[in-house]
Amino acid sequence: MTRLTRREFLRTSGRSAGLGLLAAAGVAGCAPALKGDFAPKTGRRVVVIGGGWGGATAAKYVRLGDPSIEVVLLEPNRRFVSCPFSNLVLSGVRSIDSLTFGYGGLRGHGVRILHASASAVEPDARRVRVGEGYLQYDRLIVSPGVEFQWEQVDGLAAARDRVLHAWKAGPQTVDLARQLEAMPDGGVFVLTVPPVAYRCPPGPYERACQVAFYLKTKKPRSKLLVLDANANVVSKAGLFRAAWKDYPNLEYRASNKVVKVDPSTREVTTELGDRVKYDVVNLIPPQRAGTIAVQADLVGTDKRWCEVNHLTYESAKQANVHVIGDSTIGLPVPKSGNIANAMGKICAVAVVHLLNGKEPPPMAPGNTCYSWVNDREAIAVVNAYKVEGGKVVQIEQKLTPGQSAEWAQNAVGWATGIWQDILG
Ligand SMILES: Cc1cc2nc3c(=O)[nH]c(=O)nc-3n(C[C@H](O)[C@H](O)[C@H](O)COP(=O)(O)OP(=O)(O)OC[C@H]3O[C@@H](n4cnc5c(N)ncnc54)[C@H](O)[C@@H]3O)c2cc1C
Repeated sequence: MTRLTRREFLRTSGRSAGLGLLAAAGVAGCAPALKGDFAPKTGRRVVVIGGGWGGATAAKYVRLGDPSIEVVLLEPNRRFVSCPFSNLVLSGVRSIDSLTFGYGGLRGHGVRILHASASAVEPDARRVRVGEGYLQYDRLIVSPGVEFQWEQVDGLAAARDRVLHAWKAGPQTVDLARQLEAMPDGGVFVLTVPPVAYRCPPGPYERACQVAFYLKTKKPRSKLLVLDANANVVSKAGLFRAAWKDYPNLEYRASNKVVKVDPSTREVTTELGDRVKYDVVNLIPPQRAGTIAVQADLVGTDKRWCEVNHLTYESAKQANVHVIGDSTIGLPVPKSGNIANAMGKICAVAVVHLLNGKEPPPMAPGNTCYSWVNDREAIAVVNAYKVEGGKVVQIEQKLTPGQSAEWAQNAVGWATGIWQDILG
């Protein structure tokens, strides 16, 4: 533990000693011991758990909606790494640095950021535990993304450092790109797709395109084998299957759920009992809501995902606690960054209204999802929704007629704009 000098304390101090400590812990990275109520509330406060696509957006938009509300964001990572576009790191088309951003913009909006994990939620006392201390809130927004169900694949829990998922962009993305690069020409890369529901329905198939593109251009004697737990390609099926005609090195097997992995023999086993050898494996495990959402008893009877009110994103189980992003289910929307960002804004508007004693306006999210099929072309799907009878319902879905460089350029515009919207 590093002790704060008086000068550091004064420089980071907010309206109270507690907030000064909070700022110092977040800015300097030398988390002082957080004990008891380490940042006593002086006015209305929203605490946000998770500084990803949903949480960072919500934190910013609560401040924009009502700057008199204090917002504290809990996020262990010091840098935001975008999952969207991270499949391009595997093909060498993008660097991880080009997808990595700081949280300075949020601080500029007055969001207080503490780089720490929430360890528990106490809804009755309206507080979030952080280490040995706690933070009080008037409203809590929970956006912890997904957690992996390691136990669903035999051998995976013990091998999780070697059998990579790369499904949370960051070091694993870079490591998987290195494994691909180091694979001998003539090798077999196995990519496994988990059963629905999982984060980013088209993501595994975009990844398949990027790996197949890399192999075709750099290791032409190699093969990509996609083992899908689902009965068909889950999203943009026709467009992906058309794109795969360019990749004779890609073999797709539907209804091939992987239930076991053995890194010592470099082998995965499917539910059908087939044993498949690999040189490199990318095993995307089955998923559920982030652990804090499960611990806080926000998940439904499936023990995986959180049911919410479609207008306010308030939990169906806990009052004054809102859940957004991939951890939610029950709305007819995909687990996407675009949706998490939209939920962040809608939830922020609702929370600001509720804290000011007003009725939140009904607002529906929207979703545009691009997938890169090679180094310069993309495909896309657009989903439109409306609120009807207090529920979000889908109005229409439109797909691009095919793949094109123009859609890829639109994807770059989408990403640049939404990163700025979340963090700028
Ligand atoms: C390879 C890939 C490609 C993708 N491509 C696209 C795309 O093109 N378009 C698109 O729209 N979406 C895409 N997605 C999906 C998108 O990344 C997710 O839907 C989005 O990140 C969900 O946002 P979230 O806020 O729910 O979770 P996240 O963005 O994962 O944020 C969760 C945050 O919570 C933090 N956290 C967790 N537990 C705690 C705790 N106890 N205390 C404090 N903080 C905590 C985590 O550190 C994390 O930063 C892609 C995903 C992948 C994996």
